[in-house]
Amino acid sequence: MADVLRIEGLSVSYRDRERTVRALGGVDLTLRAGQILGIVGESGCGKSTLAHSVLQLLPANGRIEGGRVFFEGADLTRSDGETLRSVRGRRIAMIFQDPVSGLNPVLTIGRQIEEMIRTHVSVSKSEARRLALEALHAQGLPDPSRVADAYPYQLSGGMCQRVMIAIATVMQPAIIIADEPTSALDVTMQAAILQELRDLRTRTGMAVLLITHDLGVIANIADDVAVMYAGRIVEEANVRELFARPRHPYTAALMAARPRLDDPGRKLAPIHGAPPDLSELTGKCAFLDRCAKAVSQCRTELWPDLERTSDNQRVACFNPMYVGA
Ligand code: ATP
Ligand code: MG
Repeated sequence: MADVLRIEGLSVSYRDRERTVRALGGVDLTLRAGQILGIVGESGCGKSTLAHSVLQLLPANGRIEGGRVFFEGADLTRSDGETLRSVRGRRIAMIFQDPVSGLNPVLTIGRQIEEMIRTHVSVSKSEARRLALEALHAQGLPDPSRVADAYPYQLSGGMCQRVMIAIATVMQPAIIIADEPTSALDVTMQAAILQELRDLRTRTGMAVLLITHDLGVIANIADDVAVMYAGRIVEEANVRELFARPRHPYTAALMAARPRLDDPGRKLAPIHGAPPDLSELTGKCAFLDRCAKAVSQCRTELWPDLERTSDNQRVACFNPMYVGA
């Protein structure tokens, strides 16, 4: 499948009054048409920063220090406002964790979808209405015209999330970036939304960048997964391969800490310690203090670049697991 998004060496920092947080330290990532790529990692590892950087939606104190984001022939880090506005929503759409903050509370659902459509294409009001109802129907929302006339507060969290997906997909974008789209939902609704994303991919061939801190979600829906730690990708692999054979000690620790449905009595092994302060990264591996496999090189050098360990797996570690296995 063709590449639809290529991120190269992306570095981002946030400046506070007295410090600089290096939120991304050189991220390389490729998304293919029709691929569901999961991004997983603990809180603060830079997942949302990565999502926002793609669409140049960083807050005012955030800055792209280096790297490129290639999409449909353009480098989005150097694109003008007009290009970005035509990409956002139309070619690359975002779904957030909290649908309430993604929806406008004072406009009906129908109006919001219609406005989204009419921002990007010139169609009549009635045609926009028809497309909006079609989008709601495609999301399996019962009685689309009732939903269209409702305000966000009149709908449940799960319905709001479906509406968000309807808005995100109405322009048939090439990519959907979903940042923790199911974290605020109960388990049943979570499963329904994930199924919806999977169906969409199958129906339309769009690519999905799915951000989550939940390995269970990844196992359920993603084809491939990139594991982030301290602003970098430490491992990237096909999901099956990653679960069978995590190569980075951080991935292995995440796996060990994961609750398992098939083994509910199993004790969880919380990862001891905490991620490092991103304003104080020094010349040693960022995972060193939490790693059981550290060797002397890890104490004197930042971790190595991602290296391929198989057709479907890359790891950035001086002493990865399962070597030679
Ligand atoms: P979570 O799972 O909690 O959503 P995340 O992986 O999405 O976390 P980011 O939100 O990208 O992580 O944050 C990466 C780092 O950048 C963290 O150290 C965070 O504190 C810092 N950060 C994020 N936004 C800002 C900001 N506006 N100003 C300063 N620092 C920020
Ligand atoms: Mg986040």
